[in-house]
Parts: sequence; C-alpha cells; structure tokens
Amino acid sequence: MNHDIDVKKVRTNCFRQSKVPGEFMLQMRVPGAVIEAKHLKAVAEICERWGNGSFHMGTRQTLDIPGVKYENIPEVNRYIKSYIEEVDVKICDCEMEADDYGYPTIGARNVIACIGNTHCIKGNTNTYELAKKIEKLIFPSHYHIKVAVAGCPNDCAKANFNDFGIMGVNKQVYDYDRCIGCGSCVDACQSHATGVLTLNKDGKIDKDACCCVGCGECTLICPTGAWTRDPKKLYRVTLGGRTGKQSPRSGKLFMNWVTEEVVLGMFSNWQKFSAWALDYKPEYLHGGHLIDRVGYKEFIKHIFEGVTFNPEAKVADDIYWAENEQRSNIHVMPLSQHKHAGPQESK
Ligand code: SF4
Ligand code: SF4
Ligand code: SF4
Repeated sequence: MNHDIDVKKVRTNCFRQSKVPGEFMLQMRVPGAVIEAKHLKAVAEICERWGNGSFHMGTRQTLDIPGVKYENIPEVNRYIKSYIEEVDVKICDCEMEADDYGYPTIGARNVIACIGNTHCIKGNTNTYELAKKIEKLIFPSHYHIKVAVAGCPNDCAKANFNDFGIMGVNKQVYDYDRCIGCGSCVDACQSHATGVLTLNKDGKIDKDACCCVGCGECTLICPTGAWTRDPKKLYRVTLGGRTGKQSPRSGKLFMNWVTEEVVLGMFSNWQKFSAWALDYKPEYLHGGHLIDRVGYKEFIKHIFEGVTFNPEAKVADDIYWAENEQRSNIHVMPLSQHKHAGPQESK
C-alpha cells in the first residue's frame, strides 16, 4: 500500500477508496436522478480511459466509476469540471469556486428522486425540480445529510430511510353531485392506501380525513371525475430515517401538507443548524444523529427560523423514533431455543 496516498483529500473530491490498493471509484452527482443523455458519453469515456471499463449504478443514484488509479485523479477531476459546471452550477445554481477542479466536498449526499409526475401516473409532484432546488441549499457542504424525494407516498425513492424524506401529496376534492356511488374509490383506498373512505346510506362517500395520505388513488380510479386533485402541490416529510450498522430506523412523520416554500425554507437553515450542532467542526455524522444529539425541540427552533407555514401545514409536536435491535439481537436465537416459531426439537 502506498502511504503517500491522501485518502481524505480524494474522498472530499467524491472518490471512494477501493479494496484494490491505489484504486478509487468516482461518484458523480446526479441531483434528482435526471440529466441529459449526452452526459453518458462522458461517463463512458471516463470508464474506458481511466476506469476499469465497468460502471456501477450508485445506490444513491450517483454515476459510479470504479478502477480509477490514484495518479489519474487530477486528470479525471479536470475532465469532469464541465459536467459539474453544467449539472451542479448551471442547473442547480450551486455556489462553487470557479477555479476548482473536482467536487469540493462529499458531505451532503446526492439527492435521490423517483421519476415523479413528469412520467408516473401516480405522481403528485415534480420530484427532480424539487431535488435540484434542495441541492442548491445543501451542496456544497461538509455536513452529512441524506435527502430523498418521492412523487407520492408510495415512496419508491425510499424517502423513509433518509434524514429527510419528502413525498408529494395533494388534497383530493370531492364533488358530491358527480358521485354515482360505484364504490371504486372505497376499494382503491382500501387496497392501495389507508382505507379511509366509506360508502354511506345515500350512496355517497364519507371520508375519515385525519388519515388520508393524499396519494390520489381515489382520483385516479373515479370514473366520473367526482374526485379531483386540488392543484396546490403539498408535501409530506419524514425525519430521521437511516440505514447503517449501528441503529438503522425508519423516519417518522415530521411535517404534513406543507408547501414547497416551507420545505425549502427548512433546508435553507440546514447548514446553519449543522454547524451549530457540531460546534462548527464538520464530523462524519448523519443529520439524524445531529437531531438526536441536540434533541427534537432544539432542532425545530433552528430549522424553522424565518419559515412561514401555509394554513394546512401540520408539524410533529415531538418525535419518538424506534431503532432496529441491531445491537441487542433480542428476538433472534438458535433454532433449538425457539419456543414459538421455527422447527422445534422433538421431546
Ligand atoms: S413514489 Fe409515486 S410518483 Fe414516485 S415512482 Fe413511485 S408511484 Fe410513481
Ligand atoms: S388520497 Fe386519501 S382518500 Fe384518496 S386513496 Fe389516498 S388515502 Fe385514500
Ligand atoms: S369512484 Fe367516484 S363515482 Fe365512484 S363512489 Fe367514488 S367518488 Fe363516487
């Protein structure tokens, strides 16, 4: 192993160390997971010229190029300058030093998104447009945060397992006179969502509005247009989800029915909050761990500074996360010790 290799420096440029000594994998950011197809030519060029000729789809929707030799990293950094300028500076409007080559930080991870409403029939919102606006607010930054955006609460983007999980929702509007009482929306909500609709004795719909997730399955199925999506685009946001070896957990509902302005207002405070929570020294700690460290009540004081809520907005008063039992392994044991499940030893 060459001990002159400055792993920390190249890691900052988004190169991950390989198990092959002296080799690294470049992770190119794709905020919101959509870029013009022309960039794929540049990706192929890097793979073939400096990589090992293969390519990996990153789990955070980055374009990953393994097999880059340490000595070739400066050249690769120069080559990707135009990609970074077009994708992060021009499209996302991120602020970066014009003379720098390579990514300036690995801190805030690539913002994940599903395809959203530009393609998906279930999508309520444009996911990659929002992802790009979030990218501007959180990148570049040495503070570690993971964000994912889904176009509806079906959450194909796995937003629930990110520090911040954003899901597009709509209020559904019911037109009493157009309803023919067919019951299709009741069935759709029961099978695909939360089962909050019932057909009443007059052949019309009653709704338990408290638990509607704003997915729009009722609107999609309704044959007469009695259900329609309210044009106001709103968001459901989960907080504190994570993977990892230590204490993985699903995020908990943090905000519901909030506008894009609220979401972006909150992210505009993220870097300031992280700096304060870490005493102005970036550490390799997920956003969720920072919130754990300072406590939820303290977190919301900082993150909502200057944010004006829309009238429909709801915010968690407090949050109690439940970690997976990664350390205790309390409910797994050898089959011979099972009392309730699995093969039993014959007595
Ligand atoms: S989360 Fe919703 S909008 Fe996104 S791909 Fe899945 S179903 Fe479509
Ligand atoms: S929008 Fe609400 S009522 Fe309609 S299917 Fe989804 S959860 Fe059910
Ligand atoms: S699907 Fe439409 S028409 Fe049928 S019961 Fe529901 S609202 Fe009424």
